[in-house]
Amino acid sequence: MGLNEKMFALGNKRSIIREIFEYSKTRAAEIGAENVFDFSLGNPSVPAPAEVNDTIRELLDTQNSVLLHGYTSAQGDLGVRRAIAARIAERFGVDMSPNLLYMTCGAAASLTICLKALIEEDKGDECIVFAPFFTEYRVFIENAGGKVVISQPEAGTFQIDIADFENRITEHTKAVIVNSPNNPSGVVYSRETIEAMCRVLKEKSEEYGHVIYLIADEPYRELVYAGVEVPYLMNHYANTLVCYSFSKSLSLPGERIGYIAVCPNMEDATTVYLAVCGAGRSLGYVCAPSLFQQVIARCLNAKVNIEAYKKNRDLLYDNLTAYGFECVKPDGAFYLFVKSPEGDAFRFYEKAKAHELLVVPCDDFGVSGYVRIAYCTDYERVKNALPAFKALAEEYRA
Ligand code: PLP
Repeated sequence: MGLNEKMFALGNKRSIIREIFEYSKTRAAEIGAENVFDFSLGNPSVPAPAEVNDTIRELLDTQNSVLLHGYTSAQGDLGVRRAIAARIAERFGVDMSPNLLYMTCGAAASLTICLKALIEEDKGDECIVFAPFFTEYRVFIENAGGKVVISQPEAGTFQIDIADFENRITEHTKAVIVNSPNNPSGVVYSRETIEAMCRVLKEKSEEYGHVIYLIADEPYRELVYAGVEVPYLMNHYANTLVCYSFSKSLSLPGERIGYIAVCPNMEDATTVYLAVCGAGRSLGYVCAPSLFQQVIARCLNAKVNIEAYKKNRDLLYDNLTAYGFECVKPDGAFYLFVKSPEGDAFRFYEKAKAHELLVVPCDDFGVSGYVRIAYCTDYERVKNALPAFKALAEEYRA
């Protein structure tokens, strides 16, 4: 074909989520947007805090335009990195250095960079992901030349199954990705789970005589309900890289802004950081959006209204479980992971679609027989969808 076939295949095959999203637009044109209940995309429905928009205006009005829109250092503006390091130190008690922070275009870029920095293609490196997992992990890991190894969750709770995890680690394990709160289950891994996982990692690193890195994928860190704790992985395991994003925490997914933080207690932290810088360079990811670096540095204490997500979660969870659907109550993110009453996720998706309910079949997320409902939408829409969910449940009972 005269081009990279793997890349062609990736571009040619649209993700199922995008597929459903496109269908929802076509369907809305046919029967009216109010009659289609699209729960496919994880696009925040809560606006960015007013502080964010005020800061953008203020920066535009007061700063030198050439500097504001100009290139920053490849790894990000030093003042911005200092502000983030101070915030990490204050919140989590980690002695973070601005020289271990790398500004990125969101968590997707952060993950791609970290994997590129760590994985040695010619050594058969493996990266463990915990099912259910964000499907793009497979794309990112394979693109970095690594092999995806899936660890299955504890039945019923979707916490990490420690015994399963331990069995998946081999001499080739280079990295482990942890995503909590989790997309698609909404589960927050408990402190007990995290401690047990880190214990295993330390033992196995010693047994195999090399570091196994932990990559904390944290776009949903701030979206937790009822004060549930999300352990900060650097405090449990020194060989951690945090991939943070402001996409969901400040409802800025289209602005593409986040960062990588290399744990200061990591063995050879500076060397790993330089590999991160090199990976960013090789991927063309230097200098994250300049205006938004300045914006987030001034809005590190800002918060979105997560009460709106919580209200949706409660309404959906309470009603769907009352109708007889099975799901774990999510403590965070904005997803509900629902078991297919007939086992097969795709057939459940098709039956829901006949009721104009658009949910995502999740077999590609590493756990079969579940669908994901993204409840980052208007409360009214969730409420109006309930009769359709009820009818779907009744259809199954019949
Ligand atoms: N990781 C997970 C688990 C996600 O759900 C997403 C986006 O939905 C990302 C990473 C990518 O986020 P970003 O917009 O920061 O690139």
